[in-house]
Amino acid sequence: MRCTCGCTRFIGHQLIRADVVVDGNGEFLENCGPSLESAIYDAEKPYGPFTCTGCGKEYEELTDEKEA
Ligand SMILES: [Zn+2]
Repeated sequence: MRCTCGCTRFIGHQLIRADVVVDGNGEFLENCGPSLESAIYDAEKPYGPFTCTGCGKEYEELTDEKEA
């Protein structure tokens, strides 16, 4: 979909799964590797609310049908 400002890029939210370092009790110690990004092994579909990167307008869903 396209924002009313013409932008087609939005900021959403995403659940990710990453490898982390834990202690002997399984408690989180620190992120694994040089960056969190490199330790990610799975990510779910991004969800809203979505914010337009152009004008900051918020959308609950990114659907084309609401464009009117
Ligand atoms: Zn916009």
